[in-house]
Amino acid sequence: MNKSKSYECEVCQSVVKAEDQGIECEICNPWYHSSCVDITDIEYEVLTTHKIGSIHWYCATCNVNSVQLLSLVFGLQKMESDMGNTCITNEISGKMIKIESEYVAVREDLKNLSQK
Ligand SMILES: [Zn+2]
Ligand SMILES: [Zn+2]
Repeated sequence: MNKSKSYECEVCQSVVKAEDQGIECEICNPWYHSSCVDITDIEYEVLTTHKIGSIHWYCATCNVNSVQLLSLVFGLQKMESDMGNTCITNEISGKMIKIESEYVAVREDLKNLSQK
């Protein structure tokens, strides 16, 4: 976290301090206390120490949007495969597959942590 600037939590409107568990929505960028958005300590640890490196976390609003985006992409894919042309969505679906595989990796981490 950039300590030279203070960020206010979008949920409780108080400052997310360096010693707080703060998390930034990757899409819309405001900061949240992990406790304000129902992130458990274990989930927070996985998100911030994940081996891929960067935090991929989306607030509830963006999560809904990305789910809609996902179904939109899959809807498009279906439409295009019906037409026998998949090249337009290849780039988008490639990104989606990458995001999906990162979610799988995070879930694996969570599983490993809970087994300790
Ligand atoms: Zn808060
Ligand atoms: Zn967001």
